[in-house]
Amino acid sequence: MSGQKSDYGFETIAIHAGAAPDPTTGARVTPIYQTTSYVFEDVDQAASLFNLQTFGNIYSRLTNPTVSVLEERVATLEGGAAGLAVASGHAAQMVLMFALMEPGDEFIASTKLYGGSITQFGVSFKKMGWTCHFADPDDPDSFKPLINERTKAIFIESASNPGGVIADIEAFAKIAHDAGLPLIVDNTCATPWGCRPIEWGADVVVHSATKYLGGHGNSVGGVIVESGDFDWSASGKFPAIAAPCEAYHGLNFYETFGRFALTAYGRAVALRDLGPALSPFNAFLLLTGIETLPLRMERHGRNAIKVAEYLAGHDKVSWVSFAGLPGSRYHALQKKYLPNGAPPLFTFGLKGGFEAGVKLVESVNILSHLANIGDTRSLILHPASTTHRQLTEEQQEAAGAGPDVVRLSVGIETVDDIIADLEQGLAQI
Ligand SMILES: *Cc1c(COP(=O)(O)O)cnc(C)c1O
Repeated sequence: MSGQKSDYGFETIAIHAGAAPDPTTGARVTPIYQTTSYVFEDVDQAASLFNLQTFGNIYSRLTNPTVSVLEERVATLEGGAAGLAVASGHAAQMVLMFALMEPGDEFIASTKLYGGSITQFGVSFKKMGWTCHFADPDDPDSFKPLINERTKAIFIESASNPGGVIADIEAFAKIAHDAGLPLIVDNTCATPWGCRPIEWGADVVVHSATKYLGGHGNSVGGVIVESGDFDWSASGKFPAIAAPCEAYHGLNFYETFGRFALTAYGRAVALRDLGPALSPFNAFLLLTGIETLPLRMERHGRNAIKVAEYLAGHDKVSWVSFAGLPGSRYHALQKKYLPNGAPPLFTFGLKGGFEAGVKLVESVNILSHLANIGDTRSLILHPASTTHRQLTEEQQEAAGAGPDVVRLSVGIETVDDIIADLEQGLAQI
């Protein structure tokens, strides 16, 4: 089973896309090709590989057979034309922006992103000469006045970490396309089981595969998927992709690779020269995790609803921000864009504020106090004292991570045990 537009069901794609029995050994599971380099058939074949005239393996910083299966698997799950797997979610964002941006360029991102993305975009990207303007994802029109001739993209999360904002993807796609820009959607929290942004007009999807895709808290990785439908030449704004490339004897990636142009540039230039290749071992673990993505997400979702309902009824809890609760302001958007349910990841507020948040995360036993999401294990975090502490209090509030906020990533343990652990922890506040 290969080829991107698949007629198979989601569960079948999660297990089979990109994979075939190993041609040499017959091994059914994709082996870990723990290999750096690949023998050339002859000098002509080597030349055509280096000239990007033939697809094939040269060196594992560019391609690796295990990593390639992961790329095709995630691209197929997202309904995209091609995928590029890299060493982390942040590497995915770096490689992608390297393809789109020149020094002096700008892009516009949601204020309610993963805290690490806000820092990467707002601080570290400045060193590349790139400026990120932030705008309110609840008000897509607020992005419009920030668009100018140097703007190269709009970046949102389909379901945000940790605020639980569900973005109106169609509205953002229209604003981006009216201005000739690609819409980039970080689909980490929603996962393709929950939401397929490309079907709503997104041009590029990025993932931290570290989270629900891998799903077991054992591997860091990232993936970029392109829809194949964006015209990179129309605006003249994307010279890296749609103008002659000096590193490849004047090759124009968009003319040569069409629907795979972004992926081809990302691999042949950005990954080659920046270097954040994914290890084949991590790709193997991520592939294994993806096989059970639908099963895990169903159970995560069922547990999350029960935990959210329990917290909403607790007298030390002031609010619960879970799009799966009918009272949520995002419930209608959730039903439209994530019909299988809200991400099992949400925040709630403690009446006791910062101190109560610290007390709770230090009192739980089954829940793990750590800075990750999307594990089989239930995870708890007090963002204001950890992941979001580099941000100003204003930025913390804007990111949905104020001092009273606790974030839960509900795992797939027995739900009564998760609730009992929260119960004893809340009792200690
Ligand atoms: C974790 C995360 C990232 C960054 O991914 P890494 O794999 O940790 O580099 C980006 N976006 C979202 C929504 C995340 O949760």
